[in-house]
Amino acid sequence: MLILVLNAGSSSLKYQLIDVETAEVKANGLCERIGIDGVMKHEIAENRKLTIDHPMPTHKEAIEFMLNILTQNDTKVIENIDEISAIGHRVVHGGEYFKESTIIDKNVIQKIERLIPLAPLHNPAHLLGIKICQELMPEKPNVAVFDTAFHQTMPEENYLYAVPHEDYTEHKLRKYGFHGTSHYYVSNEAIKMLQKEQSKVIVCHLGNGSSICAVKDGKSIDTTMGLTPLEGLMMGTRSGDIDAGVIPYLLEKKDMDANQIIDYLNKKSGILGVSGISSDLREVIKAAKDGDQRANICIEMMCNRIRKYICSYAGVLGGVDAICFTAGIGENADIIREKVCSGLEFIGVEIDKNKNKIREKTNREINKTDSKTKIFVIPTNEEFVIAQDTYKLVKA
Ligand code: ADP
Repeated sequence: MLILVLNAGSSSLKYQLIDVETAEVKANGLCERIGIDGVMKHEIAENRKLTIDHPMPTHKEAIEFMLNILTQNDTKVIENIDEISAIGHRVVHGGEYFKESTIIDKNVIQKIERLIPLAPLHNPAHLLGIKICQELMPEKPNVAVFDTAFHQTMPEENYLYAVPHEDYTEHKLRKYGFHGTSHYYVSNEAIKMLQKEQSKVIVCHLGNGSSICAVKDGKSIDTTMGLTPLEGLMMGTRSGDIDAGVIPYLLEKKDMDANQIIDYLNKKSGILGVSGISSDLREVIKAAKDGDQRANICIEMMCNRIRKYICSYAGVLGGVDAICFTAGIGENADIIREKVCSGLEFIGVEIDKNKNKIREKTNREINKTDSKTKIFVIPTNEEFVIAQDTYKLVKA
């Protein structure tokens, strides 16, 4: 069964065509600069990569063009669109409405719309993607898979903020958490590797956006991102945790308004703001190696905060069987994994420095043989989870 997985952003569209029974990715790609000029980066099996400039005034032209590329001429991987059984959409915010993935109907669309104030950049773009698919392929089922759903198992004491309670009951002000699809996939893989009935797993999803999740017996019980993805770790361009008193201070000192401050904390802070070099950690690591002081401090700050959360989640879980690293930084930056783990021997974490340096795109264990806590590197695969959930719901 072929599932088309879509992740529609405000000016971009990521897609994968997956055979869910064999896990084969038939084609994948990214349309960028939608509404500006339009460029598609497309990849077909066996590493055939293409970059095509094509006008994409709206998401509709982008999706139409993608369907053409999948079905026509020398780029075709299917004879026609009928071979696609269903479409799985990544949706960032499912609020308290969605505890799992769901088939999309009018009611689901209304709820995703109602959640726009909580995800003003993401949910409108997802809705566009859904509506265009319904228009272009009216007979095909659409499924929504939410970034927040996996964290809906968090207990109240972990998701409430310490503010007046009526703001939770009236305005749904609480921690939701994100990257849920990735935390689910990685913790599930870790549980298989542990071969344990009951498990305490900490997943570190370290990419441009980063979050950590405490997973007990397969369920999320705490996570670092909050009402929005701004809370928690220091990220590519996001500050992560910060004293809320910073906001009025900046309002006055820099004559900013609320939107400018949110922009400053979301887009100008984190690795970019501290290093003054880039939000791309590879460039910062290189500068640190060349002796750049700020780059060095930036890396130490980042690792320090990851270590703090690992310890705090070991406390929340009452121990830890495995720490997992995933996403761009977690999967590739051995130097970060080594720094994070050193100093954690007191909770049974002992990294094997040689195993840590091995580069592979597979699940692997990088702890010393006698380390009480396992350390896993597990490449994430959110698209596959979306395809699987879509398949299960459509089949049912
Ligand atoms: P996104 O959150 O956009 O999906 P990714 O998961 O792709 O991001 O992660 C992007 C981050 O991973 C960037 O900061 C990039 O520098 C970092 N990264 C990728 N490869 C390496 C590497 N070999 N060493 C260090 N950092 C890396």
